[in-house]
Amino acid sequence: MFLAKLVVGPFAENSYVIGDEKTHEGALVDPGGDVEHLLEIAKRAKLKIGKILITHAHWDHVFGVAEAKRLTGAETFLPKGEKKMLAALDRQSEMMGLPAPEMPAIDTWVAEGDAIRIGDLEFRVILVPGHSPGHVAYLSGLDAMSGDTLMAGSVGRTDLPGGDFDVFVDSFTEKILKWPDDTRVHPGHGPSTTVGEERDSNPFVLEMLAMRARR
Ligand SMILES: [Zn+2]
Repeated sequence: MFLAKLVVGPFAENSYVIGDEKTHEGALVDPGGDVEHLLEIAKRAKLKIGKILITHAHWDHVFGVAEAKRLTGAETFLPKGEKKMLAALDRQSEMMGLPAPEMPAIDTWVAEGDAIRIGDLEFRVILVPGHSPGHVAYLSGLDAMSGDTLMAGSVGRTDLPGGDFDVFVDSFTEKILKWPDDTRVHPGHGPSTTVGEERDSNPFVLEMLAMRARR
């Protein structure tokens, strides 16, 4: 699997170019801006971008979606539970004093268990709410596009509108921490990591596990 990361925008959001090197089918994950650069990366890797996968509808993860769709004609995927968050894009922009993005059109509203093919790769939709109400991860084999859930040495925050800490702890411990230790996690911010590495050393993960054990 081809995977390249580009850090974009005021929140240093990770936009990814992924693809199947055999069939040359590619996708963007959470294109938060700098779309021309992302498409340049895809072109150099000989990938045709046919899909845009979005983990959740926060401003920094969707800023470049409309432009990327316009330039590629790609099919856009967003979880059903993020409809309201997407509709509130203008409000998100106002809150942060940032420019309002062009509202992206969503072609396919995904739900838990859906499968998305990119060439010979298959990504499963895993619902992991808490950072935002309908947040999903996209998992293919041992590669997870995890959005703002598990990060190297950190986890997604739950204090933004629509966030819920208890929901986050449940979805996080019951889903993400059940993935094999050598699952490579490609988060929405910061470097990639593995589930095993974070399970052993990430203070937020250790705290969540301790909380679950106390219940
Ligand atoms: Zn977010």
